[in-house]
Amino acid sequence: MKRLHLSLLSFVIWQILNPVFSQDVSYARACIKTLCSDEFYGRGYVQNGDKIAANFIRQELSKHKVLPLGEKYFQNLGFPVIYYPNEVNIKLDDKQVFAGNDYILNPGCPSVKGSYKILVVDSAMIDNSNEFNKIIKLNLKSYFLVVDDLKGRAFKHPERVDKILKNSVNAKGLIYKNNSSLVWSPAMEFASFPIIYFKAGVFPNLVLKMEIKIDAAHKVHGTQNVIGYIKGNVQPDSFIVFTAHYDHLGKMGNDAIFPGANDNASGVAMMLDLAKHYAKNPPPYSVAFIAFAGEEIGLVGSYFFVENPLIPLQKISLLLNMDLMSTGDEGLTAVNATEFPHLFEQLKLCNIAGQYLPDIAPRGKSPNSDHHYFTEAGVPSFFFYLRGNYHHYHDVDDTYEALTLSKYKEAFLLMRDFADWRMNQDGVLNKK
Ligand SMILES: [Zn+2]
Repeated sequence: MKRLHLSLLSFVIWQILNPVFSQDVSYARACIKTLCSDEFYGRGYVQNGDKIAANFIRQELSKHKVLPLGEKYFQNLGFPVIYYPNEVNIKLDDKQVFAGNDYILNPGCPSVKGSYKILVVDSAMIDNSNEFNKIIKLNLKSYFLVVDDLKGRAFKHPERVDKILKNSVNAKGLIYKNNSSLVWSPAMEFASFPIIYFKAGVFPNLVLKMEIKIDAAHKVHGTQNVIGYIKGNVQPDSFIVFTAHYDHLGKMGNDAIFPGANDNASGVAMMLDLAKHYAKNPPPYSVAFIAFAGEEIGLVGSYFFVENPLIPLQKISLLLNMDLMSTGDEGLTAVNATEFPHLFEQLKLCNIAGQYLPDIAPRGKSPNSDHHYFTEAGVPSFFFYLRGNYHHYHDVDDTYEALTLSKYKEAFLLMRDFADWRMNQDGVLNKK
């Protein structure tokens, strides 16, 4: 027993003293918990959510002695956005249903207020010419049409379906009632009519009226990328860049918050943890950290940076963009593997050497996260996301509590080893 205690104690001391012990899962957890808390309002466009998150990230970078770029770590930018700072409220025959949990709005859903009748348009009605002609002759301005499942069926007159789906029948709006998940996205412009997507089982078979109040607003949203770096001690004008977007969808009305734990508090946490690591282990190249704003609305923050770079783009030796980093049980996917096959091979070697993740899957070029405009500008860049048993995406259930971070440590070490290899490949580390 005593021996065991001693060896445990010496292990703990070794852990404390050993600088190789780099990743800090509890720090990452704390970061994710903070970024997903109600006080950050889903890091979107309501109640300054993304600004609060940017301040938190800046404070962490500064705590780790990461040097500022831009104006005290901030690079300011703006873009138009439709947002929902006030009431979003729906009652079906006087029964209250809840935004986020029971239904979701279409991106850019315009304001709508009033009591509306419900008309179910089914496939039999559409294929029956008499019925269909009756429908389109109705004045549908006081109706919401339920158009559930029309797309999945075979129709004799697909052009009629198209008319309904494009709402050229001029109903007040459309309802889809059997959605398996409630995925939302922000928009810069108003949609031409409201569409309400209900989760399967929520919208009753018989509904006569819907009371609805959606208060949509439009603004030019001022926001900021958050940027810092650690100066390299051998070749400081070469850069390794870690990026992760910190914005998410914000709120939909007064109650529905989209916490964005996997997307992308997890990537921001890993980026901050890497900042902490490199601050303690001075790298030969400079290592920069960019938390991007405006990713969810269309890669706006990273586009702005590439157009107005605070680090010369040709000096970026490698850029690793981390987005959706909370799982990993099924491995990691590397977007741009086919663009940079030599680098991808090395990533796989790093993974084998460290025995980190069960699979490293190649994927081609895709404009699906903040690496995109860097790739277009010729920067060697990857977008990494982890795969595993986690199915919340752009919904209110992507919460801190839902994350396991089961392969966080392994993914962190893989990022570190890959970046270290890149800095070491010219023999830079050996020259020290
Ligand atoms: Zn994302």
